[in-house]
Amino acid sequence: MGEFDLIRRYFTRPPGHAPHVVLGVGDDCALLQPTPGMQWAVSSDMLVEGRHFFAGTDAARLGHKALAVNLSDLAACGARPAGFTLALALPQADEAWLDAFSRGLLQLADLHGCPLVGGDTTRGPLNICITVFGEVPPGQALLRSGARPGDDIYVSGTLGDARLALSALQGQTALPAALLHAAQLRLEQPTPRVALGMALRGVASAALDVSDGLLGDLGHLLEASRVGARVNTKNTIHLIAARAYLENAGADFDDEFLQQCTLAGGDDYELVFTAPATARDAVARASQASATPVTRIGQIEAAPGLRLVGPQGEALAPRYASFDHFA
Ligand code: ADP
Ligand code: MG
Repeated sequence: MGEFDLIRRYFTRPPGHAPHVVLGVGDDCALLQPTPGMQWAVSSDMLVEGRHFFAGTDAARLGHKALAVNLSDLAACGARPAGFTLALALPQADEAWLDAFSRGLLQLADLHGCPLVGGDTTRGPLNICITVFGEVPPGQALLRSGARPGDDIYVSGTLGDARLALSALQGQTALPAALLHAAQLRLEQPTPRVALGMALRGVASAALDVSDGLLGDLGHLLEASRVGARVNTKNTIHLIAARAYLENAGADFDDEFLQQCTLAGGDDYELVFTAPATARDAVARASQASATPVTRIGQIEAAPGLRLVGPQGEALAPRYASFDHFA
């Protein structure tokens, strides 16, 4: 199978209903038509074998994740997905792998009405780079820089289970099979919070998605907004779904490690966002409208820095660094 057969077979779809796509795969450029008056929101994310995922990771899940991490960036900006390109380096044209990969990828694309419009395909160590395009009304994109002292801090969904799965897959933690399965799905098939991000337009004062760990990513938001924050572990302790499972099973577990997974795990692809206290009802409505649970975990303060406090309000030493590829 040659390069062009491969592109035709796995990455070219009949045009169908795609409002923004004037011309998709096949020419030198794709042509996208923006909705009049809207802004493009554009983001790229690359997944490298051995760095972002293990060799031998299920190909369908990898296809899903490659797009999910990009859609998560659109979600963090409150943008509606419109299309994406795929730059792919493959060691060989393995038909079973390509079949599963493209299925996982395009299923998620269909779910979000976000068609594949072009890309590049080359031989090389497995490397998947996606650029995603979304739309947002001018002035309504959620940015990292809008948090103000007094704002509440929220996080969507659950945090830390992906990190727990990683630890189990690396042989550092033993997990019951059912728990490993659930946690591994969180690691390998994250859910981008696109509907929540869009529902938070005009409600959230700032937002970003958690890819490298809650505390570290929240730190980026604080820096961009030139503010500080207080986060209470009483509110974050239940965010790791595994804790409820382990408690129900009466299992012995390392509380400190679960805490670390929650606060600094990475690969969560949940949204962290801030909103004024007067917007609590509006946040609840956005959560309900998008069927996405959110938890209030702390408050923005004027003094720079991130203060972690325990259940009794006691100060905890800041200890969990987030992931950095070059640290
Ligand atoms: P060029 O040489 O002009 O860059 P290519 O020969 O690389 O174009 O690609 C041919 C067509 O296939 C282009 O429309 C390109 O966007 C598309 N394409 C290449 N690889 C992919 C891919 N992995 N997924 C989707 N479209 C792709
Ligand atoms: Mg090319």
